[in-house]
Amino acid sequence: MKNEALAMVFSEAEKPFHPLPVDLPLLSSGEALVEITYTTICTSDLHTFYGRRGAPTPSVLGHEVIGRIASLPENGVEDFYGEHLRIGDLVTWSVYAHNHAGEMACKGIPQKSTPLFKYGHERIEQNDVLSGGFATHCHLRKGTDIFKIPEGITAREAAPLNCTHATVAGAIRLAGDLSGKNVLVIGAGMLGISACAMAQYAEAKHVFAMDLDGRRAENSKRFGANTAIDAKLSSEEILQIIQPLGGIDVVIDTSGSAAAMEKGLAILNIGGISVWVGAVYSERNISLNAETVVRRILTIKGLHNYIPEDLSYAIKFLKATHMTYPFASLVETDLPLSKLDEAFKVANESGNYRVGITPN
Ligand SMILES: [Zn+2]
Repeated sequence: MKNEALAMVFSEAEKPFHPLPVDLPLLSSGEALVEITYTTICTSDLHTFYGRRGAPTPSVLGHEVIGRIASLPENGVEDFYGEHLRIGDLVTWSVYAHNHAGEMACKGIPQKSTPLFKYGHERIEQNDVLSGGFATHCHLRKGTDIFKIPEGITAREAAPLNCTHATVAGAIRLAGDLSGKNVLVIGAGMLGISACAMAQYAEAKHVFAMDLDGRRAENSKRFGANTAIDAKLSSEEILQIIQPLGGIDVVIDTSGSAAAMEKGLAILNIGGISVWVGAVYSERNISLNAETVVRRILTIKGLHNYIPEDLSYAIKFLKATHMTYPFASLVETDLPLSKLDEAFKVANESGNYRVGITPN
């Protein structure tokens, strides 16, 4: 094993990444070193890089990432299920490390623990550089939930597991039992596509996908959506499409658009539930009639990030469905780590769902 790693450091919005060679870390108990094999550029990486949201700097971005265990401490490390990890195991891991006995973990909201170590989001400290996916290695901290990637799943399929698919698994968990229910997925980007496929996996009766981009809404039919809806239609026009099919019992919003979330509430069946995961940027306030919520017995739930059990569910989902749905096709371009600047430009301008980064 080489004893040096290389990280691509982000220091300022739209400034080129600069390569920083660093020594491999000495591992403490509970930690692991991973040699990164593939990373996909998540939309939130783009938001950070293009200055659309604040982030601590300097940092190593990238959190949709997989790799092989390169070294372990003397007493070893167990995966999420308590099995010993071995050198060479191909793994994904929770996007954050947390104290499993902490107050928020005990409340069932570990993603809001303090402190929380979030991969791809941490400021670089002197000897602590390898915290993101755009590097040759990632230093997994104590309290990270690590999962082996099942055989047969390709890198393009697996990299989005620990952000996209795990977050959607959290939304599906909050939505409750979907069997026999009609689901509307708002936003047909990477999260929305995952939500269509996962709603089918969870035995939804009919899955509708809605987006302003007709091409994206149509594409979601390759991933389990039964009907594509143009988000420009009015609530009345949408009702004409959905009512003959039984209306909508569950809305999963991945768009974050206030107008879309209002439309979702307006068309929800009595007893319906709306789960919001897309609103991770500031938007205008939602207009909501409380009497409607009460009389129609509606539920609204928000979700930010996910719990480790969601990543476990996402891996089972991908294992069961990756031969059915063309997830690999969502990563349309690969570039090596040394061309990270070019990769971000392609990801920002092309409209690709994802761009992948391979080792040099
Ligand atoms: Zn992400």
